[in-house]
Amino acid sequence: MKRKHWLLLILSIIAIALSIPELVHNNSGKSKASGSVGKGKLTNAYLVPWSGQNFRYFSPISYFLLDNGYTHSKVHNTILEAYKICESTCPNTQFRIMECSDKSGSKLLFHKTHQNGLSVDFMSSKIKNGKQSRLFDRLGLWHYLLEFSNSGKLNFSNKTSIDFETMARHILALDKAARNNGLRIKKVIFKIELKDDFFKTPSGKKVKQKGIYFAQALPKWTNRVHDDHYHVDFEILR
Ligand SMILES: [Zn+2]
Repeated sequence: MKRKHWLLLILSIIAIALSIPELVHNNSGKSKASGSVGKGKLTNAYLVPWSGQNFRYFSPISYFLLDNGYTHSKVHNTILEAYKICESTCPNTQFRIMECSDKSGSKLLFHKTHQNGLSVDFMSSKIKNGKQSRLFDRLGLWHYLLEFSNSGKLNFSNKTSIDFETMARHILALDKAARNNGLRIKKVIFKIELKDDFFKTPSGKKVKQKGIYFAQALPKWTNRVHDDHYHVDFEILR
């Protein structure tokens, strides 16, 4: 290739990189959430990291093309602090963050909420033969379509089931980290029929004792899709 062509190629790569905001985004200052999770906006959003020690974002399309990996600064810090806690409470577990909010908030494709940076979807951890199973964690956006039985078994691979204990430990970590960051968990949305299995686990019992609120009734479609992931709404206290 001629020198001129090399130069053109390098310049094009730089131009593409600069046009992907996630590659140049810088988290600084404080975010501002206005309105509600169902009708709101987010100013000076923070971008969650693509990956960390024990977690990663679930989909490059959602992160780089749809720009849906943004949250309020306090939620961002809460998410990271919670995963830090999980390094000791859930050793050898890799977590996945699913959709957060758009860079400036407002409507997200396929979500009724997530509008002001205070809602986050977290992928349900899965277990097979007593060990974490990450095979289906790599589905990207398709993960939202996975369906589980009312006892948490994956429909087409019933040896794989939701790891309710790990999920509860993560929620306990989120609760603790939220309080450290001036937030509280306002609501967890998780399929109604799965809640009994969740609250039966040792850490699920602690979640109940702490009074962390889980939605009591959900519209049919909302209920159906909240098995492969759990949705958390945060509230700013200070
Ligand atoms: Zn959600």
